[in-house]
Amino acid sequence: MVELSKGASRIYGEAAFEVLAKAQALERQGKSILHFEIGEPDMETPPNVAQAGIKAIQDKKTHYVPSIGLLELRKAVQNEVERTRGFRPDLEQVVIIPGLKPGIFFSMLSIVNPGDEVIYQDPGYPTYGSVTSFLGAESVLVPLLEENEFRMNPDDIKERITEKTKLIIVNSPQNPTGSVITKSELDDIAELAEEYDVFVVSDEIYSKMTYDTTHYSPTARDEAKERTVLLDGFSKYYAMTGWRLGYMVVPQSMAKRLNDFLVSAVSCTAAFTQWAGVEALTGDQSFIPEMMARFKEKRDRIVKGLNSIPGFTCLAPKGAFYAFPNITETKMTSQECADHLLYKAGVAVLPGTAFGPYGEGYLRFSYATTLENIDDAVKRIKESFE
Ligand code: PMP
Repeated sequence: MVELSKGASRIYGEAAFEVLAKAQALERQGKSILHFEIGEPDMETPPNVAQAGIKAIQDKKTHYVPSIGLLELRKAVQNEVERTRGFRPDLEQVVIIPGLKPGIFFSMLSIVNPGDEVIYQDPGYPTYGSVTSFLGAESVLVPLLEENEFRMNPDDIKERITEKTKLIIVNSPQNPTGSVITKSELDDIAELAEEYDVFVVSDEIYSKMTYDTTHYSPTARDEAKERTVLLDGFSKYYAMTGWRLGYMVVPQSMAKRLNDFLVSAVSCTAAFTQWAGVEALTGDQSFIPEMMARFKEKRDRIVKGLNSIPGFTCLAPKGAFYAFPNITETKMTSQECADHLLYKAGVAVLPGTAFGPYGEGYLRFSYATTLENIDDAVKRIKESFE
């Protein structure tokens, strides 16, 4: 049989979707499953934003638009970045994309050569490793340690920088640990990138999802003009995962290349989705603090609940909507424990190892669910170990 490309054999998927499929198979057999596996808010898109999308379709905004995005949305992003990151990018630096993920893919395609080294957090979002491997580059893992509240330590990055290092990927607030890197640590990372002449891609998809702490972007240092790339999007804090909308702020030379990648891969991001995005950024923002107040209540409830389970300990995450309990005292591996929870307790979670080898000994709970489900899951897990 004719073979697929070598790159195709190196790219890989995400465990969340696999666990969801297993959980749904159990549900079809009549089992009751509580879902903590998928990383998306349990809220609906704010009505004003959804309405803007509907109106755009009715107004026939259903045609091709420029590959790098609608001017109106790029201007809204320009203002948004000035408001939230403290610098105003040039319009030429702003690129609209269908979800944040293509931003990871296209920025890495623009930056990384085969044989280059890419430094990123472990446990971390699987896409970074998948794309690194696809590109024939080397993954250099920075372990996130519970003792350091799962924050990436700039000294650990420095130790790993070699002549081959081309890119450092930063993700804060972080998936899967919920950690938030401090401003001074992020400044140190940006400084290292300058010193060693490497790129930084900053995945800030949870930027507005912090608890009692503010988000900071390492791209503020060079205003994304030289070596830093800001990625953010509408999926999480505007509850728009299915709309597929994100943005990038990049050095101008890279924006030109991105334009060509977008032309070649997607033509453009859906026009009506972008009009919804304009409303999201420029309309009423009360949705976000309301959602975060609810998430905080859920976070406190699940952290308390997990800490009450024998064999589990859990730090309070500072951002996103993930809890990452340590389960080493159960004497099970992450995979065994995740399977036990699914088959014995009817609670679907991800093993920490779905996010890399340093996730061993942990589980990821996405607590974007109801307080009732959280209480019920804790009860079921306790019973399953009795
Ligand atoms: N980056 C991180 C860290 C994420 O957790 C996710 C969603 N799970 C994404 C990117 C993907 O975002 P989008 O759906 O906008 O492509």
